[in-house]
Amino acid sequence: MILKTSKEILGEFILCNHCLGRQFGKISISTNERRGEVIRNLLNCLNPDLNPALSRQNPCFLCDNIFERTEDILKNISPDFEFFTFHAGTKIPEEIIKKEEMIKEKYNLQYQESIKQELNRELGKKVGAIIGKDFKREKEDVTILLHPYDSKVEYFINPLFIYGRYNKLLRGIPQTKWFCTKCKGRGCPKCGHTGKMYDESVEELISKIFLEETKGADSSFHGAGREDIDVLMLGNGRPFVLEIKSPKIRDIDLQKLELEVNQINEGKVRISELRFVEKEVVEKIKNANMRKTYLAEIDICLNEEEKRKIEDYFVDRDIYQETPNRVIHRRSDKTRIRKVYKVLTSKENCSSLEIYCDGGLYIKELISGDEERTNPSIAELLGKNIKCVLLNVISIEEKV
Ligand SMILES: [Zn+2]
Ligand SMILES: [Zn+2]
Repeated sequence: MILKTSKEILGEFILCNHCLGRQFGKISISTNERRGEVIRNLLNCLNPDLNPALSRQNPCFLCDNIFERTEDILKNISPDFEFFTFHAGTKIPEEIIKKEEMIKEKYNLQYQESIKQELNRELGKKVGAIIGKDFKREKEDVTILLHPYDSKVEYFINPLFIYGRYNKLLRGIPQTKWFCTKCKGRGCPKCGHTGKMYDESVEELISKIFLEETKGADSSFHGAGREDIDVLMLGNGRPFVLEIKSPKIRDIDLQKLELEVNQINEGKVRISELRFVEKEVVEKIKNANMRKTYLAEIDICLNEEEKRKIEDYFVDRDIYQETPNRVIHRRSDKTRIRKVYKVLTSKENCSSLEIYCDGGLYIKELISGDEERTNPSIAELLGKNIKCVLLNVISIEEKV
């Protein structure tokens, strides 16, 4: 059966042993080249002038003798960046894939292996030997894409993900880069041609040093929620993942960089608990249920009765909160339900509140009521106008 079909194919097309053997690639475990050679030898014994020898003048119809040139293809690999694991693939011209499909259909070849599969396998093995790195099927540091027919190599360097927690010790710094609302980042008189609303952000203060160290192209900052620009992030800090895109250096000393970031940003931003993580952690910290503790200063002095009233009322209390007036222009209007677990007042101070609640609750509005968009609220409970004048996050815990 194989011999009969092979004879028909070779009667019409010149094929190298690789491409001949590959037409029956999924039948047996031998290499395609060896299988092709065996078939050809058998056929040649039976029909001596069936198929002319392969040569530069008579190249293989399917692959153009690419398997003789694999060493040349691999010479183009010269990465100028650091990596430890790789995955390799090949880009095969459309025209070759079409020829292969045509033969497959014409001779009804159900066990054909594709040229892409064979080249990936053959070249992948050799790439590993040449660059001396480990092949990895997924989560590799770099994907090497060979273009065997164009003498070209492309590298796709995968990002580095670094987890940590940050403290914000100074008010007036946004968490992430905030583009100028007028020019959207291009630069204009309003923003002093910086393209930004604020000179600094937690993101930039942290990522700058990591970008320098890794020679990365760019970075993204993924925070587990965010605090308002005028709110401090104290205590154990807020989880974040810093994503470094196309790093040229991966083996960085996180402890050393932590110290550097903390030294340079003293009094502004502090980071801790740095470690390398996988990409999945980004989604995980973004969707994590957090419990937060806030310290709020309000603009009135509470008497003892009011203090007791607040502490008694806000115990495991559901708060219905429409998107606050102050952010409605940039966030969709919806009602969210978040819990306040408890509120503690202070013995020494008549205007301090310690609030234990779910992440995602707007504290300023929990205090003011936000024109009845937040229910219940502390203002409503006491029947007074109350505003939050100072706010700090003092702890963030993962909810279990
Ligand atoms: Zn071939
Ligand atoms: Zn601008």
